[in-house]
Formats: sequence, structure tokens, C-alpha cells
Amino acid sequence: MSNITVCARFRPLSSKERRDHGDGVCIRCMDTETFILKDEKEEDIIFSFDRVFCEKSGQAEVYEFLVLPIVRDAVNGINGTIITYGQTGAGKTYSIEGPGILECGEQKKGILPRVVDGIFEHNKPDKMAKYSIKLSMVEIYMEKIRDLFDLSKDNIQIKESKIEGILLSGATEMSIIDPAEALQSLSTGIANRAVGETQMNTASSRSHCIYIFTVQQELTGDKRMKTGKLVLVDLAGSEKVEKTGAEGRALEEAKMINKSLSALGNVINALTCGSGRANHIPYRDSKLTRILQDALGGNSRTALLCCCSPSVSNASESLSTLRFGARAKHI
Ligand code: ADP
Ligand code: MG
Repeated sequence: MSNITVCARFRPLSSKERRDHGDGVCIRCMDTETFILKDEKEEDIIFSFDRVFCEKSGQAEVYEFLVLPIVRDAVNGINGTIITYGQTGAGKTYSIEGPGILECGEQKKGILPRVVDGIFEHNKPDKMAKYSIKLSMVEIYMEKIRDLFDLSKDNIQIKESKIEGILLSGATEMSIIDPAEALQSLSTGIANRAVGETQMNTASSRSHCIYIFTVQQELTGDKRMKTGKLVLVDLAGSEKVEKTGAEGRALEEAKMINKSLSALGNVINALTCGSGRANHIPYRDSKLTRILQDALGGNSRTALLCCCSPSVSNASESLSTLRFGARAKHI
């Protein structure tokens, strides 16, 4: 990966946090890049990221800084990945989808609908070039990949092709002709996710949701294809499960999530501290990192949004999220 941008985002205090803990916040933003977290021992820990979005930062600001450069590259054939990380309730889905995918107004709409607009706006191929935009949506739960456009496909396999790279064998690819149709497809996938959850009695915070846009252009006078893949990942909640509390399936879920999130951290680390050496990148340690292999490796761009609650009551989870971000940046 040539480049990773790491940002932190703090949502406003929730009404529950306010009710239970007053206005206690553990975060102080110093400037657009630097902020301080007061941990449980009342010690100040200083962080410096590419950008920090405080509670007043809007969706447009996040999109323009973190996502737009990646969209511009994707339509030019450079792969990109946008990942949201953080504990359940920290604002990952809000950042990606917004309060609702279809109708939440210009101001509050999330990264996804803005990416859709961006792809169509910036995808200005030469007059003669043919191009196509495709969308797949899958979910990883307990290391099994499920197609969110076709719930009967609940064990999708990952294949690697010399030409096309990493493929989700048999996963539905929706051809997207215009932004309205793209939003309709996304909304179907998101609704299917909820249906699957009810059937399996699971919660969305326990699975990783992956959106894959493939933008392909056939260059004029040249039979070569220029393909850019843009992947958005709404990760499972990173919270630690109480050592004593969880048992049965909850414990198994927690172990799987933990394993794939640490695999992701290890892959990002291996990619960012490569220093030109052909070091081993452990993509195969989880389904998540394997799917992201060609979006993260090679000539690609990655953005990591570390989502946090600002409340004192969540200080230790926020600290662990921010440490993940700091490690990814390798500062
Ligand atoms: P996660 O996906 O990380 O579990 P959500 O995105 O569902 O968390 O956010 C939890 C709650 O906080 C939701 O009710 C959401 O609307 C709200 N929320 C999250 N981020 C923001 C924000 N930046 N501004 C306003 N509300 C937010
Ligand atoms: Mg969520």
C-alpha cells in the first residue's frame, strides 16, 4: 500500500451517556490533527493523526478529506479501501451509511451515497471508452461470507485469479447505471442484512459488512481494461468482551472478531513498515484480510476512520481504538 490516511472521529455524547455520566468527556481536540484523551487513571495521552473530526464535524467534511481522493483514484484504476473501526455505538455505520441510506438529506448523508455521486461525477471516460460500474455487498460472520444481494449464498469462497485478482466466487455483482439505481441496490443489501440477522439471531455489530465497487474502463484504441476497485468496510465492533461474562456463541463470535481485527492490524503494519523489503504479508490469516488483499496491497490507497465515543465512560475502549489507529499509521 502506498499510502494510509488515519483519522479519528468523535460523535456527540449520546443521551444515555449524558444521563448516566453527565457531560463528562475524555477528549480534547487541540487542532485539526492533535487531540488528548484522558484515560481512566486521569492521565493525558496525546495523539496526532492525519485529521481529527470532533463532534461538530459534519459528514461532508469527513468525505472530502478522507474519501474523495480515493474515489478520484478509483475511477482512474487505482484501488482504494475505506475502513471504519471502533466499538459498537461509536459511529461506524453512521459515518458510512448516514442516518439512513435513502433519505436523510444532503447534510447528513454518509460516505456511501457520496461515493456513489463521486463515482459518477468523476468517471468521465474518453468519448469512445466503454465503462461499467459494479457493486457487490457481503458480510463476514463467524468467518463465513454471506452475499447480501442473495441470502441463499451463505458460504461464498474467495478465489484468486492472475488477471482479476481476488474474487468472491459466485457473489452477486449488480451493474450500476446511475446513482439512483446504486442507492436502491445498497438499500436492498442493507435491508437483507437485517433480515439475515433476524433469521440467525445475530446483531450487525458482530459482523463485518463489505461494499465493493468495481469501476472498469476499456481504453480507447486499446483493448486493455483499466479497473479500479473501491472497497468500504464497516467492521464488527472492536469492544472487548468481558472475560467472565461471555460464553457459548457470544464468546465464539468475540474470538473470531478479535482474530480478524488483529489480522487486519498485522497486515496494515506489515504493509506500512515494509521499507522496500519483500516482507511477508499475512493476508491469509482471516477472511477479512484475504478479501481486502488487492485493495490494500500493491498500488492502492487506504483510509482508516477510528470512530469513538467521547464519553468518560468509554475512555478505555476509545483508547484501544486510537491505539489501533496509531499503530496503523506507524508513528
Ligand atoms: P456503530 O455502527 O459504530 O455501532 P452507529 O453508527 O450505529 O455506531 O452510531 C450509534 C448511534 O450514534 C446512532 O444512533 C447514530 O445515529 C449516532 N451517531 C453516531 N455518530 C454520530 C454523529 N457523528 N453525529 C450524530 N449522531 C451520531
Ligand atoms: Mg454499526
